[in-house]
Amino acid sequence: MATAHAHGSGPQRGAFGLGLALALCLVAGATLGGCGLYRSDDYIICQLKSDTTSEALAERFLQDPRRSWVIEEANPGAVFQKGKTVIIPLQDDNRAGLFREGFQVVPILCYHRFAAACRSALCVSESAFRAQLAYLKENGYRTIRLEDLYAFLSYRRAIPLRSVVITIDDGYRSSYDTAFPLLKEYGFTATLFIYTDFVEATPLSISWDQLREMKAAGFEVASHSVSHCDLTLRQAGESETAYEARIMGELTASKAILDRELQQDTRFLAYPFSKYDRWVLGQVEAAGYDLGLTLERGAIPFFADPLVLKRTPVQEEDLHDFSRRVSTLTPVLLE
Ligand SMILES: [Zn+2]
Repeated sequence: MATAHAHGSGPQRGAFGLGLALALCLVAGATLGGCGLYRSDDYIICQLKSDTTSEALAERFLQDPRRSWVIEEANPGAVFQKGKTVIIPLQDDNRAGLFREGFQVVPILCYHRFAAACRSALCVSESAFRAQLAYLKENGYRTIRLEDLYAFLSYRRAIPLRSVVITIDDGYRSSYDTAFPLLKEYGFTATLFIYTDFVEATPLSISWDQLREMKAAGFEVASHSVSHCDLTLRQAGESETAYEARIMGELTASKAILDRELQQDTRFLAYPFSKYDRWVLGQVEAAGYDLGLTLERGAIPFFADPLVLKRTPVQEEDLHDFSRRVSTLTPVLLE
């Protein structure tokens, strides 16, 4: 049986009984219209009538150009030229990301600031960031949105084999000035976690117009509270009731402001300072959030708890260290 060779050493998905299908299409081929040689509930085999792209095929057959990766992964290395035969999977064949070698995990990278040259540990230089994006591109990674990750967690959707989420916390202007053009250049997207008090508050802050522009380009904007306070910390002299009301305000007001400014339903939150406790998690859920992101280290399997997702903080570092942080397969050792 033919196998779909995904990038290098990664796990491989079967090509849906391609051999059998090709045999069948010799029988059924002539009777199908369009480019279809053979069609089942699971896939179409298509002989291209003209040059096209995976995006155009995804739009036509999967009703979503962003699912072009499904077609690319089923036809590794293919050029979508007139006369070529391609396979178009119609079902999510591996929604849990389970393989003989192990299970798929999604690294969620976390950045804060960017600059030409950095002095802070929370800053990554423009040149290092470019090198990291180039590494991801050259090694077949695709950025997915938290929306896609949420569907993967709920066992509703498969995601690309080498999926990574890029998050940028706090709302520094360099997310727009430096990161945005570079990410677009590489065809990547990212999710910004904003604490609403900081927007337009200082010369280093991002603006609502810039956030709207990034959102229009397919980026996600999510909540990082109103004031970036430690959600688990009661202030000196603060009553329990006052503390609980204040924290609920941090969660609901930041969501309401983002919803209003960006015309969206904000459902993702990053905990300021990565601080949460059992009570906070209950409030986060009650406030309407589906995903909560921490700064605890790790990557995300399909069975992860959606309210305490681990991330991978990225600093100025060499590419060897970076490459170890973006592994997308956790081996299962059977001994
Ligand atoms: Zn922060």
